[in-house]
Amino acid sequence: MIAENLKKIEERIEAACRRCGRARESVRLIAVSKTKPAEAVAEAYAAGQRLFGENHAQEIVAKKPLLPEDIRWHFIGNLQKNKVKYLVGSVEMIHSVNSEGLAAQIEKQAAKCGLVQDILLEVNVAGESSKQGAAPEALLSLLRFCDSQPHLRLCGLMAVAPFTEDPEESRPYFIRLREMRDGLKPALRDPDAFRELSMGMSGDFETAVEEGATLVRVGTSIFGARNTMK
Ligand SMILES: *Cc1c(COP(=O)(O)O)cnc(C)c1O
Repeated sequence: MIAENLKKIEERIEAACRRCGRARESVRLIAVSKTKPAEAVAEAYAAGQRLFGENHAQEIVAKKPLLPEDIRWHFIGNLQKNKVKYLVGSVEMIHSVNSEGLAAQIEKQAAKCGLVQDILLEVNVAGESSKQGAAPEALLSLLRFCDSQPHLRLCGLMAVAPFTEDPEESRPYFIRLREMRDGLKPALRDPDAFRELSMGMSGDFETAVEEGATLVRVGTSIFGARNTMK
C-alpha cells in the first residue's frame, strides 16, 4: 500500500516537473511520517524512500533507533527551545526556524556538537494567526541574525499554505515564497546555499512543484489519514 502510494506520488511529481520544464532531481520528496509507527517508515524505506519528516522531537528520538541509519530526518514542526538538543546532529534539516531565540538555541547546540546545522526559515506567508512562521516583515532581520551565526547554514524558506480544497488557491502563496527567497538571496553570506523552497503537502504539492518547490512534504497521500490532528 505505502509502496504503491509512493509510486503514484513519484509519477505525479514527474508529471509536474515535465509540465514546467524542471529536472526531476530538482525536487525532493519528504515522506511525512508523524503519528505513524516505525513499521510504516520501514515500509516506505523498503520502497526506496530515504527522506522523512516529523513534527515532534520525541517521535524522531523514538523512531530513529528502530530504523536504518541512512534515513535522513527533516524536522518540520513547531520547535520548542528545550527540544533543540534532541534534534541538532540527528536531523539533516530543521525547516521551522521562526525566531531569533530559537535560532540562537540551535546555534548554541550546533557549536557544542561541533557541526553546522542546515536550517530553513518558516514564513507565515498568508499572515494567518493560527500559523507559526515569521511574519514577512520580520523575515529580513531574522535572516540577518541567522546569517551571522557560524553554526547555522541558511538553506532557504518553508511555508504551509492556508488550508484549501483547491490547490490553485495555494499558488499565489507559493509564488510569494519563491519571490521572497529570490529577493533575500543576494543579501546572504552564502547565496548559493539559499536555494531550498519547502512547500506543498498532499493537497497541493504539484502546484508547489510548478512554482519552484525543491522539497515537498507529503504525509497523508503516502501513509493514509492520521488519527490525531497533528
Ligand atoms: C503534517 C504536515 C505535512 C504533511 O501533510 P499532509 O497533508 O498529510 O500531506 C506537511 N508539512 C507540515 C509542516 C506538516 O505538519
